[in-house]
Amino acid sequence: MARFDFDVAVIGLGAMGSSALAHLSARGQKVIGFEAFSPAHGLSSSHGDSRIIRLGYFEDPSYVPLLRRAYENWRALERETGRDILTITGVLQIGRPDSPIVSGTLASCRAYDLDHEVLDPAGMARRYPAFALDRDEIAVFESQGGFLRPEAAVAAHLDLARRHGAQMRMASRVTAIEPDDAVVTLAVAGERVRARRVVVATGPWIGELVPALARLATPIRQVVAWYDPKDRAATALGALPVFLRDAGPVGSFFGFPALDGMGVKVGKHAHFREPISDPNVPNAPVNEADAALLDDFIAQRLPLAAGVRLATTTCRYTMLPGEDFLLDTLPGEPNVVVASPCSGHGYKFASVVGEILADLAETGQSDLPIEAFSFYALQQKAAALMAI
Ligand SMILES: Cc1cc2nc3c(=O)[nH]c(=O)nc-3n(C[C@H](O)[C@H](O)[C@H](O)COP(=O)(O)OP(=O)(O)OC[C@H]3O[C@@H](n4cnc5c(N)ncnc54)[C@H](O)[C@@H]3O)c2cc1C
Repeated sequence: MARFDFDVAVIGLGAMGSSALAHLSARGQKVIGFEAFSPAHGLSSSHGDSRIIRLGYFEDPSYVPLLRRAYENWRALERETGRDILTITGVLQIGRPDSPIVSGTLASCRAYDLDHEVLDPAGMARRYPAFALDRDEIAVFESQGGFLRPEAAVAAHLDLARRHGAQMRMASRVTAIEPDDAVVTLAVAGERVRARRVVVATGPWIGELVPALARLATPIRQVVAWYDPKDRAATALGALPVFLRDAGPVGSFFGFPALDGMGVKVGKHAHFREPISDPNVPNAPVNEADAALLDDFIAQRLPLAAGVRLATTTCRYTMLPGEDFLLDTLPGEPNVVVASPCSGHGYKFASVVGEILADLAETGQSDLPIEAFSFYALQQKAAALMAI
């Protein structure tokens, strides 16, 4: 007889795993969660005070139904835990009219009849003077955009899970998973733990426990910086929405109003795309080239925020082919559910990803629209990219 006996074991208690643990325990499942370090720690992908959420998804309108559910679930989590997690500021998506961010946002807004407004440079100067736009750029303002507090959200999901009877082990690294037809055995700290199903949500470490992803999932180094704004009124929460700016071939930048006395935060999506070979080794510290990229952006594009650089930090994106998600059971192993870390744009979905993972762990399927996030779809995307 095994010492532990659980319906589901969740491995990794970051954004996705904490949410899965909360959803599963709320459904009355007997669950245990394992976290190698501590929730939302500095080597994970879920620290740094803020994450953008937006409904008019430029990446593809098909994400919008999942986002609607994600918003509902974030609000429910706030009600259930009394924590402040989601703040609506509106989101500005800036670029040339034919840029992927602007044209894609408009396509999503139109497809789902989302509240939005298009602003030209003069309109932006009147409403949001902090930004400098080129003459041929526009901004799409989408009223439902805003930001999430990632550390608070992970803590809230874990609060909820604890309240519903989930067990949790911090500083407990799972070193192997051995599935057979009826049970999955986990090796953790010299013990063997048996569960009917397992959810693997190990972020940048996903390739360690899921060999099928070792080559497909690439963790990359990400950098963000906070600046003391020159104009506090124009960059304060309430005045400055969260924003994305499409900078053409250079890539895209994102940012937040000044929060909690920490100044205005900015970053570049995927930064320099530097792969991380071992997620157990801390990221290289922020260097001059990292800082110069963000200093130049804020000086040129957000001049009223471009005061002294107050702080910087590094984080990890984990990219999959097509920069998409994987939410599925392992091929041939229906008792092993996998959540990828979602290619640098997954935080906003964590509240619904946990629901999907709970569905997959309970029944092997979900009524939510996840066909595009299957292993099969991932393999198709990888094959298509290799053919280019
Ligand atoms: C700087 C930055 C900005 C971002 N901005 C946005 C944004 O604005 N909007 C958005 O939607 N998304 C954004 N993202 C992406 C988003 O944050 C990630 O998609 C999300 O945090 C991934 O969560 P996760 O749970 O998969 O991974 P993590 O949060 O890294 O959690 C994985 C956990 O698993 C644990 N673990 C690993 N191996 C084991 C093991 N063997 N045993 C036990 N535990 C283990 C780890 O310690 C870790 O705590 C951003 C990411 C970064 C880095």
